[in-house]
Amino acid sequence: MKPEDRKRLEQHISMITDQQYTRGGNGAHWDGCAEVHWDCKIAELEAENAILTAELAELNNKAVFIQFENEDELPADISSDIYSAMFNCSHVDVVRLFPYIKENGQKYYLVMLREDE
Ligand SMILES: [Zn+2]
Repeated sequence: MKPEDRKRLEQHISMITDQQYTRGGNGAHWDGCAEVHWDCKIAELEAENAILTAELAELNNKAVFIQFENEDELPADISSDIYSAMFNCSHVDVVRLFPYIKENGQKYYLVMLREDE
């Protein structure tokens, strides 16, 4: 074996051996070491997960969810015009359900206005 080949072979063996011993983490890390260090990969993914979890919490705080109220639970004093507009966007799932959103504890019923009404 030529001396330069032997040197290259020794370098390769050294790299492989280093990776084996640092895999699992002996403190020797480098940019991109997560490709071979499972613990570094886990830490990388946990950091990413924490960012996404925080983003999701922020989005959930801003989000307005449509909820549905059973027809029997609607306020009693709704005029028939308003009831018609609400009825247009209701649907039946065993009972008739009317969509609403809640903002700061206040309920807002959804209505659908049709030009021909
Ligand atoms: Zn590492």
